Amino acid sequence: MSLQQQVDVKTFLLFINGEWTPATHGETFDVSNPATGELVAKVAKATKEDVNKAVTAAREAFELEAWREMKPEQRSKMLLMIAQKIIANAKELVYLDAISSGGTVRRLSNSDVLQTALFFQTLSKFVLEYPYSETLPMPLFPGPAHNFVWREPIGVCAAITPWNMPMLIASWKIAPALAMGNTIVLKPASYTPLSTLKFAEIISEVVPKGVINVVTGSGAEVGESLAAHPDVDKIAFTGSTEVGRKIMSIAAKTVKNTTLELGGKSPNILLDDADLEIAIPGSLFGVFLHSGQLCESGTRLFVPDHMYDTVINLLVKQTSKLKLGNPLDPSTDMGPVISAKQQEKILSYIESAKKEGARVICGGKKETVPGCEGGHFIRPTILADVANDMKVAKEEIFGPVLSVIRYNSVEEAIEMANDTIYGLAAGVWTKDVNKAYDVARKLRAGVVWINDWHLLRPDAPFGGYKQSGIGREMGKHSLDEYTQTKHVHTSMTPELNKRSWYNILFSNSNDELR
Ligand code: NAD
Repeated sequence: MSLQQQVDVKTFLLFINGEWTPATHGETFDVSNPATGELVAKVAKATKEDVNKAVTAAREAFELEAWREMKPEQRSKMLLMIAQKIIANAKELVYLDAISSGGTVRRLSNSDVLQTALFFQTLSKFVLEYPYSETLPMPLFPGPAHNFVWREPIGVCAAITPWNMPMLIASWKIAPALAMGNTIVLKPASYTPLSTLKFAEIISEVVPKGVINVVTGSGAEVGESLAAHPDVDKIAFTGSTEVGRKIMSIAAKTVKNTTLELGGKSPNILLDDADLEIAIPGSLFGVFLHSGQLCESGTRLFVPDHMYDTVINLLVKQTSKLKLGNPLDPSTDMGPVISAKQQEKILSYIESAKKEGARVICGGKKETVPGCEGGHFIRPTILADVANDMKVAKEEIFGPVLSVIRYNSVEEAIEMANDTIYGLAAGVWTKDVNKAYDVARKLRAGVVWINDWHLLRPDAPFGGYKQSGIGREMGKHSLDEYTQTKHVHTSMTPELNKRSWYNILFSNSNDELR
């Protein structure tokens, strides 16, 4: 894709019941490229009425026996076909995410799009082994009976996704929902709806109409309408903890099944025997990938006091090599942050750190990238002398900012690491595997990386402890999140007089019943 290529400003419509549909009032909103500020697309702005139409289509599709009762073998084939279509459309999906989210083509093409296809492929295997029906042991008391546990789809699932990894996070919801026979209405983030709309097109080629629907628009109107809708059975949300709390309270009114994948402030503990040759680039990879806009970024680095200056020097040396640029240029290491508003927010966090006594030892300011003058770039920033109770160490910044915090004992590091409302990810660097497991056991997080970062797997669960979320995505666990269990009891005691447990109610007829 040429960098000079003129972006063709297309208008994207809503995808409802297998049809491209304009929004009820015909309104659109703009999607622009965070690297250049240029308009890249106009997208239909859905209303509450559009949400109602999408939910009705999803409900009707859910009622189709052919969809709900589809055999695991057929479902497996369907998921595999989607994986193949993702690979066939990889170039376009990468491009759509790059021009809207600011993710580099190097990351999107080497990681996100492959992981997205791999996830569908992984679930295509898991659906074949899934325990749709389990038989429980025959009870001797109070009487013999056959007992099963069946797993059934939940129904109409609504998914609300963030802007940072649009295609990958959408797949974490679409794949298990379809794998288990649900139908889905997605609301992507307004900055990045394009790849999700492309997904609708790809997936609709292999599923009945109404199974997948995409409604684009604001969180306040479209997102809240989905969370409140009485005919939506489940809501799966990924985004900030603040919005997650709001969605949970809205969904509570109709007691919806709710999964939440929320923010993080992940601790990264460097032990004094760490191999610095790997731990330094590894920790920087852990925090600066996608300009620090990944929920599980390692944003707080804990360093032993006696190594502090050495580590700081090595971090700065390596960080200064990072090249900011146009995400479409394969030589770019880091792209922009998502918006001018987010850029200002990040800079204000850096100012607050300075006021609280931290030192900016590299970065800390905007950068102008030639050819991308309208973009929102920030130099990767390292803050030294950060205390764990400073605002910058407590709140999620969602930008390229690393806080380096001293510690004197491993116990102190673990205590500070866990002293946060979040619990999404954590990491430890050491050459001693026993020490690593000891620290990993004590860290309160949904994923712990030992001598690495960011390596999520499609077959391993991902999700947060504490206020980082409820439920798990990926792995076999994600299939459980899109099913509900039904216990079925079949009596094997035809004789009334052997049903001694009826005496609990019929005390006067004890003799008769016996
Ligand atoms: P956000 O919470 O602002 O928005 C997420 C989505 O919610 C968007 O689609 C938005 O339009 C919608 N929304 C906003 N207000 C809403 C409301 N009142 N009702 C319903 N929907 C509403 O988050 P963001 O800025 O798009 O993404 C960044 C956040 O996402 C960070 O906090 C990051 O940690 C988190 N995140 C978490 C994970 C994870 O797996 N835990 C993954 C990626 C991002």
